[in-house]
Amino acid sequence: MIADGPSPVDLLVSGGLLVTCDDHWTLIHRGAIAVHQGLIVAVGPADEVTARYQAAETIDATGHAVMPGLLNAHTHAPMTLFRGLADDLPLEIWLHQHIWPAEAWAVNPQMVHWGTLLAAAEMIRSGTTLFADMYFFEDAIGSAACQAGIRAVLGEALVDFPSPNSKTPADGLAYTEDLLQKWAEDPLVRVSVQPHAPYSASADLLIRSKELANRYGAIYLSHVAETSREVQESWARTGLSPVAYLDSLAVLDPRTVFAHGVHLSDADIELMAERGIAIAHCPQSNLKLASGAAPLPKLMEAGVRMGLGTDGAASNNDLDMWGEINTAAMLHKLVNGDPTAANAQTVVWLATRGSADVLGFAGELGSLETGKRADLILIDLEQPHLVPLYDIYSHLAYAVSGADVATTIINGRVVMRDRRMLTLDEHELFARAREIAAEIGPRFGARRPS
Ligand SMILES: [Zn+2]
Repeated sequence: MIADGPSPVDLLVSGGLLVTCDDHWTLIHRGAIAVHQGLIVAVGPADEVTARYQAAETIDATGHAVMPGLLNAHTHAPMTLFRGLADDLPLEIWLHQHIWPAEAWAVNPQMVHWGTLLAAAEMIRSGTTLFADMYFFEDAIGSAACQAGIRAVLGEALVDFPSPNSKTPADGLAYTEDLLQKWAEDPLVRVSVQPHAPYSASADLLIRSKELANRYGAIYLSHVAETSREVQESWARTGLSPVAYLDSLAVLDPRTVFAHGVHLSDADIELMAERGIAIAHCPQSNLKLASGAAPLPKLMEAGVRMGLGTDGAASNNDLDMWGEINTAAMLHKLVNGDPTAANAQTVVWLATRGSADVLGFAGELGSLETGKRADLILIDLEQPHLVPLYDIYSHLAYAVSGADVATTIINGRVVMRDRRMLTLDEHELFARAREIAAEIGPRFGARRPS
């Protein structure tokens, strides 16, 4: 005979307003979530869930909204160390005179390690539980992510020219294959294949990258159609738009993700929908570099899968996904002259379910549902800018910021509790970041006219 007592679980989060982001947008007032071995095992009214489960640890979520962690679908984590180095410049000057020389000089595994830990601290503090990264020395990014306890999708930037980590494109592909094997069983880290862009990776590299991604069932992510200049140059060089050019190389399928996707024709959008392409939408970076506005409503209507990302901290300049959510809502209202465009639920969806789908985690992340990974955040609602509360989605889209996230849980592990970081020593982290910046600033910083 089996005793009928409550089942033991690792963690209960009880008493909050659950914003499940499930298919029915279910909200549960005074809800609870039971977590065991990194998975959500129950979601429901607090009295029911707490009667059925007994937890080793209970977090009282009274006065908080509890929702799935935010998923950053595109960033370059170590670029936190270039934040504010050079701003308010034309893209070409910014890249050629500041960012690329600084990268050529500064990027090594140590810099990547500290820059990623700094990024992880910022992301955990603002409720991001996964980031999809493209940079160099991605193995060091994987190790830093594990140290911080944050989920990561790694992608070594694959380019035609020598990178800080690879002398040749073949080196970059071999390094990526090593990553795919090394991290195959890791609970937090997954590896993707990321040719930088169709203008910086040759047709051969783009095709071989896709072959590698296919062999491992990995996501394939590239910067595509970010600026109008890129599109013009693609027409001049290949006689095709960037999207049609990639299609001619047979690299477009539902595991292909475009970062940005700003300058797209109707034919491009139709082709993308047909191929099942996804976009990591990065509205703040597109605004800051004056790249343009991705046609979000049109893309969504056509059935192109959309997620949300910050891009790197040199072009944003923070990794706070709440800023991205808010900007997405505002930007598409303005450019479409339509206040109903990109409504509150849509932009919350982009940062949760949308990004999960884009990155291949649709069945595992993005909502509070039984069987999904326990990646969730608590938002402190007892604050002047969040009172009164009529509509939680309105607050999430228009009033919440990263500093309102009280507690962050990733894979069932509490990594920040009541704004106290539990996995990282931020004092050491800030000191190391300042040391590195003291070397970079005088060499590569922009001087303001006095
Ligand atoms: Zn980028």
